[in-house]
Amino acid sequence: MLKAENLNFSIGEKTILDRVSLEIKQGEIFAILGPNGAGKSTLMKCLSGYEKPTRGNITLMGQAFASFSLTDLAAIRAVLTQSVSINFPFTALEVAAMGRGQFSGVGQDMRDYDIAREAMQLTEVSHLEERLISTLSGGEQQRVHMARILAQLWDQTDCILFLDEPTSALDLKHQFMLFDICRTLASQKNFAVVVILHDLQLAKRMTDQALLLDAGKIFAVGASADVINIDTVSTLYDINRSQVML
Ligand code: ADP
Ligand code: MG
Repeated sequence: MLKAENLNFSIGEKTILDRVSLEIKQGEIFAILGPNGAGKSTLMKCLSGYEKPTRGNITLMGQAFASFSLTDLAAIRAVLTQSVSINFPFTALEVAAMGRGQFSGVGQDMRDYDIAREAMQLTEVSHLEERLISTLSGGEQQRVHMARILAQLWDQTDCILFLDEPTSALDLKHQFMLFDICRTLASQKNFAVVVILHDLQLAKRMTDQALLLDAGKIFAVGASADVINIDTVSTLYDINRSQVML
């Protein structure tokens, strides 16, 4: 579904991504892991079209990334960025409904609000619909934003979700909820899910493939259950083997 070949991303003299190649298939959950500053968010921005790689090639469904318009992309992929802050007095429902605006670029109709409500039910934030987004806790806001990107791709199949640390503010129950949603989309709607995580136990247990990034380079890539192990984790994160909890 998504293929990248030899991606490089540089800012000035600094190389942030160095010859990264990968393939993400439909129906799979693909983890991007690595220490702070390894280039995970930058890689996700390149793969989702938010940044243009300095060199290298990306194809989406066999076509060059550049051949998709923003409207085309909005019907295929949704992105949950690492931090989203909304400083306007929108309610949680209005924020979730913004996912629908990605298509038309104009105001939402009632059907869009119905979809937003259904998405909010999935991420367990229905009871917060009238609350201002800025008054919600970090985990509640994260679940509203998750509802927003689910609303964006509602009724679609064969899409791709990009989630940058989506569980960072979630309690244990809602971490499982999020992976349940992702797994259902992958198996029933043929979605691919690309997710940046810091919880390696969760990554090993809940994702299919994992790419371990080290200072912009691929350190390891393969089946999550294999590549997330004591050897790779202790080396990549520069910790003792006894400190690795998997
Ligand atoms: P990660 O998500 O793995 O923590 P990032 O992809 O956000 O890492 O960043 C990778 C490296 O690139 C970091 O050292 C970061 O400081 C640097 N970087 C990212 N964006 C920029 C930018 N716009 N200007 C300068 N340096 C940047
Ligand atoms: Mg990041």
